[in-house]
Amino acid sequence: MCCESDNYDNSESDIVPVFNCALNKPILNIEDFSTLRRLLRVTSFVFRFIYNARNSNNRRSGPITSSETSKALIYFIKMSQENSFSSEINNIKLNKSVNKNSKLCNFNVMIDDDNILRIKSRLTNSSLDVYEKHPIILSNDYFASLIVYDCHEQVLHNGVNETLIQVRSKFWILKARQFIKSIVYNCRVCKKFHVKSGQQNIAPLPNDRIEKSQPFETTGVDFAGPLYLKEGSKIISENVFFFKEYLLELRSVMFTKQSKNIPNLKIDDVVLIREDNVKRYNWKLGRIKKLFPGRDGKVRSCEIQLSKGVIKRPVERLYNLEVKNTG
Ligand SMILES: [Zn+2]
Repeated sequence: MCCESDNYDNSESDIVPVFNCALNKPILNIEDFSTLRRLLRVTSFVFRFIYNARNSNNRRSGPITSSETSKALIYFIKMSQENSFSSEINNIKLNKSVNKNSKLCNFNVMIDDDNILRIKSRLTNSSLDVYEKHPIILSNDYFASLIVYDCHEQVLHNGVNETLIQVRSKFWILKARQFIKSIVYNCRVCKKFHVKSGQQNIAPLPNDRIEKSQPFETTGVDFAGPLYLKEGSKIISENVFFFKEYLLELRSVMFTKQSKNIPNLKIDDVVLIREDNVKRYNWKLGRIKKLFPGRDGKVRSCEIQLSKGVIKRPVERLYNLEVKNTG
């Protein structure tokens, strides 16, 4: 969030006309924004535009200030609470207790001077700031997901616990752990580091390697030398025995290497492409253009569209980021 100091008179009355808008009809569609920072920045500019239109003698200009972004934040907090807890807010304003069926019935809630719903904690007398003593309550809606992602960035893409601690320094989100888990799981930056490479079950062997055949029907260079079987003190060369042993050995390898249910890569999947001697963060991103299945129909390699050019790589070198195609 922006931290520039205020360079103009910023009395609370400036913003009142804006808050008189119906709160459950936002001035912007928040789902058009993927980060809290951008949402607050654009909203601050909209509020400034409204202010300047009404105060042509005292127009604001320059960079967005921290107080403007915090007003935008309060606007969306109130909107989210109004959408999720309107009956609870009405009850509290009328000094009634919260409905027994409410999601908030187990909490001791209060409304502060800014009309924000907060949880009353027993830390009232502590030296903590007001956010930590009385966190703002939010349901797990889209706005809350922007808050969580912002906190996740603040803790430098650390795990669920660290993000949860950061969130709880200001907010109390209902069923927060589960909610944060799903957001962290879908974080694209984290995926780049944690996603596993593509895997595929071993293909059946071709006929010429497992069918009995006449000597020299298929020939090749033997780097291992002749193989002999020792029986007691006699050394014999036993073709049939070797053939069976070879096949059974192969079969056991096939059993042990069978992998779990691995989803095939698909056209348009966004993948990271592993490169030797290059740090993972610098691997190239590409979109799968063409699939090359083996004889068993399973995808073995893919043609990938890069920002410049097209390359072909085996699935073991591809890391599916599972980015949803939004068209
Ligand atoms: Zn992350």
